[in-house]
Amino acid sequence: MTEVRVRFPPSPTGYLHIGGARTALLNWLWAKKNNGKLILRIEDTDAERSTSESIEGIIDGMTWLGLDWDEGPYFQTEFSGDHIQAAEQLLASGHAYKCFCTREVLEEKREAALAAKQDVRYDGTCRNLTADEVRAKEDQGLAGVIRFKVEQQEGSVSYEDRVLGKIERSYSDIEDFVIVRSNGNPLYLLCNVVDDIRDRISHIIRGQDHMTNTTRQVLIYQALGAPVPIFAHMPLTLDLQKKKISKRSHGEIVSVQFYREKGFLPWALCNFLVLLGWNPGTEQEIFNREELIESFTLERISKVNSVFNYQKGNAKFFTDPKLIAMNEHYLRSMDIAELGELVKNELVGEGLWDEAYDGEQKNWYLATLDLIRDRFHTVKDFTSTGRAYFADDYAIEQKPLKKNILKHPDLVTWLPMLAELFTKLDGFSSDETERVSRELAAELDIKPGILINGMRTVLTGQLAGPSMFDILTTLGRDRVVSRLRNIDYLYNDKTETPAT
Ligand code: GLU
Repeated sequence: MTEVRVRFPPSPTGYLHIGGARTALLNWLWAKKNNGKLILRIEDTDAERSTSESIEGIIDGMTWLGLDWDEGPYFQTEFSGDHIQAAEQLLASGHAYKCFCTREVLEEKREAALAAKQDVRYDGTCRNLTADEVRAKEDQGLAGVIRFKVEQQEGSVSYEDRVLGKIERSYSDIEDFVIVRSNGNPLYLLCNVVDDIRDRISHIIRGQDHMTNTTRQVLIYQALGAPVPIFAHMPLTLDLQKKKISKRSHGEIVSVQFYREKGFLPWALCNFLVLLGWNPGTEQEIFNREELIESFTLERISKVNSVFNYQKGNAKFFTDPKLIAMNEHYLRSMDIAELGELVKNELVGEGLWDEAYDGEQKNWYLATLDLIRDRFHTVKDFTSTGRAYFADDYAIEQKPLKKNILKHPDLVTWLPMLAELFTKLDGFSSDETERVSRELAAELDIKPGILINGMRTVLTGQLAGPSMFDILTTLGRDRVVSRLRNIDYLYNDKTETPAT
């Protein structure tokens, strides 16, 4: 069997789009499944639109997603000699010809054809110029483009798509298309084929938006005498209104970078993306890396377009709720030591990392992450919602402040009373702290919830979280007591009247 060699050839004209990431992922899966190779090729021939920032963004995005490649990055511009040589080969073998029709003449003909409701395709004026005629035009200083000569007889070009089955297009539907511009620059259709031949690509997995190119490219393969690779076209990803997702209409949620910045886990994004265009044929949705490589087949790539169901207001930002749910799943179930490393980066970034978390406090650190991760959506939550576990300067959210503190002004004496009781305990287990909290509530003749919710607000700044008595144990007696001892500032700082 020939080696499986696939490629991801982005044009570096923007950030890494989630559609591009999905293409990279499917190619990566196919390479991994077959012990093949993934080649990263940057299609930078459009010099005006290609930027080095975009190249870096693509490489960073792929690296972050864990989509490693085996060869490259190659840069298409470095192979322009190959592209020109292929164009010359096609001219020499009679599969291409020079065309000197000017833009103006072509435009006039196009308009006339449109007006007469006739075919607007190139009419073949230069198809049969003799070598002498071509030379004469060149001697006049005319540059001319190079067009590919499509068969004129009856018949069609076809290929077997691994997803969609046989795809066929009659020759009469394809005009003699341009492969080299008059300035000598070869066009994408040709460069892409020449590079795929040189890189010995066995499978081309790309979006259905490239299908109009594919039939023309099959003609180029045949004319160059190269084997035609296997094609597998993927559906597009649309929004709920069936529009293609794009930065212009949907903003930053279409870029991989956005998910990285928001604290998503790379594998959660991969798991989500693969299901936008592929299905395992079972109910299974959560796949680890090995399971996905094992289950992946080209035949199960969907034929129909998928929907990226982005919505407002879920988990503090817009994105597909299924992606958020997947991220939560991985965040809450992943190996705790691995999570420890990810959260370390966040803590370092916020200046909250303590070397002891890697030493004598390692058990405390990991147990704390395990305790608090159950309600978290992203890695960023550990330093925002979870800041009180790692720092003393955390914010108290407005909602719990009003509901649990300002509404109960007596807490200003009750919580310090509780703090004193805590100092007198022999140990600081959750059983003991719960017992004295309930005893104080009974003594004060108030519901224990008033003390418990008040404590939660003061100690964590949050309305909800893990069991309050587990929080006390995690924070430890010293921090708990010092935070509960003086809460005057919560009342003094507020000008508004307590909510009723
Ligand atoms: N540079 C093209 C793109 O980014 C590659 C298409 C292909 O896979 O052949 O769309």
